[in-house]
Amino acid sequence: MIESPRAAAGARAGWGELARVLEAWGEPAYRARQIGEWKERRLAASFDEMREVPRALRQRLDEAVRYWALEPLAEAQSADGLTTKMLFRLADGECIESVLMRQPTPAGGWRSTVCVSSQAGCKMRCSFCATGHGGWRRNLAADEIVDQVLYFAARLKRPPAVAAGGGSRGHLSQPASPPEIELMQRVDNVVFMGMGEPLDNYDGVLAAVRRLNDVRGLGLAARSITISTCGLVPEIRRLEKEGVQVNLAVSLAATNDVRRSELIPLNRRFPLRELLAAGDEYAAVTHRRVSYEYVLIAGVNDSVEEAVQLGQLLRGRLAHVNLIPLNPVAGDGYARPTEAAVRRFQRLVRAAHVPVTVRYSKGVDIAAGCGQLRAAAS
Ligand code: SAH
Repeated sequence: MIESPRAAAGARAGWGELARVLEAWGEPAYRARQIGEWKERRLAASFDEMREVPRALRQRLDEAVRYWALEPLAEAQSADGLTTKMLFRLADGECIESVLMRQPTPAGGWRSTVCVSSQAGCKMRCSFCATGHGGWRRNLAADEIVDQVLYFAARLKRPPAVAAGGGSRGHLSQPASPPEIELMQRVDNVVFMGMGEPLDNYDGVLAAVRRLNDVRGLGLAARSITISTCGLVPEIRRLEKEGVQVNLAVSLAATNDVRRSELIPLNRRFPLRELLAAGDEYAAVTHRRVSYEYVLIAGVNDSVEEAVQLGQLLRGRLAHVNLIPLNPVAGDGYARPTEAAVRRFQRLVRAAHVPVTVRYSKGVDIAAGCGQLRAAAS
């Protein structure tokens, strides 16, 4: 049979079809599980690394099944080397971004958090968010979400020599990463705070969470996973009934409905009172503290009154506030408040006995605004 490599590549099945392909070839039932464990628990970079799988089968799989759902297109490192942002291309050409953030721990170790995208584009059109400006493309499949985490997990685990060697078709060997990041670490946390609204891709996100959870894979505890939403109330209520104790983050951005609807149009469907009630219920059912994210925009939502109102709104709730000083997006006219204004806001919220931290979005120096890396690469 003569086939161009391109046609052969186009004909390959996705990872999700692996079990079906193996069954059609008459392989034993345990094979799909074995191969799945090699990829998701042992973090193999290609079929070729799966020593217990017969060589002929590895080669045949390499021809027939696409190992990775994504291919790295570009990479950016922060000046301190602690943040790595990747631009990935999906099989149909859509592009998404994922970020690895590392933080030193008090015990002298490292904590690694991967920020994943759940959709290519977004329907929510929040006024301050670059992804919303770019419009809607499609939901990501569970494989496309899980592979963002596996990509960084494999990189953190691998000594540089192995990473540079790569597999037969493993895209993940390139581009090379700086040596200081290859320190045999693991992924500790996953946050759904990249592109997209995770609860608008409910099935894909939940399937990905269950896969990340699975002890035959990465085995990440649910409480190490955070789903961030701009306020899809019915899906918050659905999530609390799933029996997965993931952390919920709610993007608040305002303390009254008029301002919030300006910033987050979804607020017109699910206003603050309903959203906070859903957050309370989530906390009551899961016994997990809800995080309220508050993006701080100069002269828009950073006044003394709003800080006091935010304290009043959340006081007594099982809640925590993360203040995120705006990461400015070109062309929308919004600016980041001064450091002094951020600290003042924080003090006023804290005065209401609401736990509050300031989170500068990581890697501002590496085009961390959604879509910037993508623009730079094209
Ligand atoms: N759609 C989800 C998750 C993605 S956004 C959500 O809205 O929660 C993740 C967080 O980044 C949200 O809290 C959002 O408000 C915040 N964010 C979006 N654009 C931002 C920007 N330009 N600067 C700072 N934070 C931003």
